[in-house]
Amino acid sequence: MEKNKNLTGGCICGQVKYTITEKPLFTQACHCKDCKIITGSSYVINSSVLDNTLIIEGEVSSTELKAGSGATSRAFFCNKCGAYIYTDYASAVGRLTVRTKTLNNSENFPPQVHIFTKDKDPWLNLADDVICFEKMYDPKKTWPEESLKRYGEYLKNNNK
Ligand SMILES: [Zn+2]
Ligand SMILES: [Zn+2]
Repeated sequence: MEKNKNLTGGCICGQVKYTITEKPLFTQACHCKDCKIITGSSYVINSSVLDNTLIIEGEVSSTELKAGSGATSRAFFCNKCGAYIYTDYASAVGRLTVRTKTLNNSENFPPQVHIFTKDKDPWLNLADDVICFEKMYDPKKTWPEESLKRYGEYLKNNNK
C-alpha cells in the first residue's frame, strides 16, 4: 500500500497533531444546515480515511452529535483551542472523517463532489465542472474504483 508521509495536520494551537498513513478515500464538501452551523461558514470539506490510518497526537475532547435524520456522530476537538479535527460517523463503518482544512497541505485535496447543494447559499457560485448532489449520493457509483476497492478490502480483512 502506498504510504504518504506528507499527510499531516493539526489544530490551531499546536497541541493536537496528526498523521494519515494512507491517502484519503474521498473528499467532499457538504452544504447542509448542520455543517453551516458547526463551521460558521457556507460549507465544510471532509476527507474520509480508513479508521486505522489516522494517528492522533495530543489531547482531544469529543461530543456526540445527532443529525436531523437521526444519524449520530462523535466530533473530536483539540482540548485547548477547540479546533474541530475529525468526526466518527456511526454510519461510516471502518472510516473516520477528517476536516480537510486541518491538513497542512489541504490544497492538495479539493472536494471531489459537493453534497446537499439544495441548501447551498444562493450567493455562492460553484464552477460548472463541479459535481453536485442535491442531497446524498451512492458512494458505489461516485467514489473512484481504487477507493472502493481499498475500503472493501479493509472491511473484509478486519471483519467490520
Ligand atoms: Zn489546539
Ligand atoms: Zn453537512
